Amino acid sequence: MTDIATSLADVRRRIATAAEEAGRPVDQVSLVAVSKTHDADAVRVALQAGQRIFGENRVQEAQGKFPDLKAEYPDLELHLIGPLQSNKVKQALALFDVIESLDRESLAEALAKELAKSDRKPKILVQVNTGEEDQKAGIPPREAEAFVKRAREVHGLPVVGLMCIPPVDEEPALHFALLREIAGRCGLDILSMGMSGDYEAGIRFGATHVRVGSAIFGARPPVIAPSDAG
Ligand SMILES: *Cc1c(COP(=O)(O)O)cnc(C)c1O
Repeated sequence: MTDIATSLADVRRRIATAAEEAGRPVDQVSLVAVSKTHDADAVRVALQAGQRIFGENRVQEAQGKFPDLKAEYPDLELHLIGPLQSNKVKQALALFDVIESLDRESLAEALAKELAKSDRKPKILVQVNTGEEDQKAGIPPREAEAFVKRAREVHGLPVVGLMCIPPVDEEPALHFALLREIAGRCGLDILSMGMSGDYEAGIRFGATHVRVGSAIFGARPPVIAPSDAG
């Protein structure tokens, strides 16, 4: 078994170095430890090593491990980084502190409706499909500015930033630069970009949040079926 605490320390060190090389204060970059497919014991090791921000891509999976951990660690911050079905909005809002994956108008509506009934104050990021890939969620780059404006003004949502997942076979830097440019136009300062393979590049291009999973928790089993997601 890989040593989660050691890997976490190594990722933190590399984040600090990348920030320093980019001339950015280290505290401007938050590490979101992506614990999907790993159990509560793995998360606990990271918590004991001081990690407090975690990312999960499925509501149901997160419900299975985080309520107890959040009770134990009140400063734990949980980010939803995967697609959110409208019928799971209520459960998602009860558990997640940041929703990074607002990717369509109908979800904006569902979130607004549920937030009106709730006292939860999650932060919301809009996912941009920078590579315009058919199989990937997110707002196309040319529609992003108008979408952000509508989400804020029509639906009253607390949109604070943007998130992207670059295509696997392309230079991520181009996508990070595009996301930063769109955020600038929207007046947003939170940028969630960079994963295990490219978080240092994300930091060079202004990431305020990097989402790192396998470099901390080890490899995941292969994905089974997309229909299983949620
Ligand atoms: C799984 C996942 C990550 C983490 O990926 P790693 O390559 O394991 O670091 C980051 N962002 C999203 C949206 C993910 O689904």
